[in-house]
Amino acid sequence: MRPRLVKVRVRGWWLVPLVVAAIAAVPWPGWVIETWYSRTVFPVIQRGVTSLSNLVSVALIDVALVLTAVCLVTIGIRCARAVRSRGWFSALWESTRRIVRVAAVLALLFLLAWGLNYRRVPLELTLGGAPGIPPSPDAVVALAREAARAAGDMREAAQTHAAGFADLAVRLEPAFQLALQRLGQPPLWVAGRPKHSPVLTPFFTAAGVTGMVNPVALESIVHPALLPFERPMVLAHEWAHLAGFADEADASAVAWLACVLGDPGLAYSAHVSVVLESATVLPDGEWPVIRATLDPGVVADIRALATRLTRQQPVVRDTALKVYDGYLKSNRVEDGVRSYSRMLRVLATPGMRRALHQAPGTMNQ
Ligand SMILES: [Zn+2]
Repeated sequence: MRPRLVKVRVRGWWLVPLVVAAIAAVPWPGWVIETWYSRTVFPVIQRGVTSLSNLVSVALIDVALVLTAVCLVTIGIRCARAVRSRGWFSALWESTRRIVRVAAVLALLFLLAWGLNYRRVPLELTLGGAPGIPPSPDAVVALAREAARAAGDMREAAQTHAAGFADLAVRLEPAFQLALQRLGQPPLWVAGRPKHSPVLTPFFTAAGVTGMVNPVALESIVHPALLPFERPMVLAHEWAHLAGFADEADASAVAWLACVLGDPGLAYSAHVSVVLESATVLPDGEWPVIRATLDPGVVADIRALATRLTRQQPVVRDTALKVYDGYLKSNRVEDGVRSYSRMLRVLATPGMRRALHQAPGTMNQ
């Protein structure tokens, strides 16, 4: 039978992608996004959406994934039926337009609800750093030594604070708000209820992912099997995303300040994260020196983390990294997944040092 084109209307299949492409293509100046979106519109969205997503303990990202799968299956079934009645060409053309529309609606929701935060002024710049210029090797060594010493000092006290995610959220929130205040940022209006995702957790385990923010429902997803000392930094990192810091380094830097300003259990998590981060970027010969000074308890925690990470599947991890790298670059994060290691640069900025050592109302101990 000769394929024939039967006209089937799919409303908005070209208009929605066009709107998405237009928003994504505009080279929005950082200050415009910073002033009018990240500090004005986004906090209102975050307040409303996270308040709603916090009402349920279920991870709404799981619901969204199931609904997307149902939607795709429905399109597939309609396509199979249409093939019989109208032929391949017409059926596939209709299905393609439906899939394009679903993808474009999701992309539009992503951009408006959170994604535009990728275009804001980098935190490193607002804190007086010089983007593109890495901190001097001496600065990295100083950060690593300071973190190694502080981790050793705090480990014992940190043990008394080991708790579940719900208790952790209560302890973390005041320190998190203080960190935002010291950084001159608007508060996080509604802290995200820590949630686990039964659908995504097996993938997180295989890929070595510790958590994520749901960029549409604005909820905080964390891996349930994180070690107690990892939890504060992971939850604070996801909250920093919720506060509009889309960039990974900025989110980690805000998380670090929040944890360091909190109780020893929170601060220990921050210090160990800096030790781990600096291990890969220290000048030659420095890591063994710092490693030798680490408290045996800190070494035991790092070993436990290495054991937890043996559950990763290299193929899944490497593929996920490549996909995430592409995603970040498409959102104009030029260094892709390498942006995680920029955290040390943000920590070394004069503004971050000032925020850390501000005397009034300090919670540091
Ligand atoms: Zn992140």
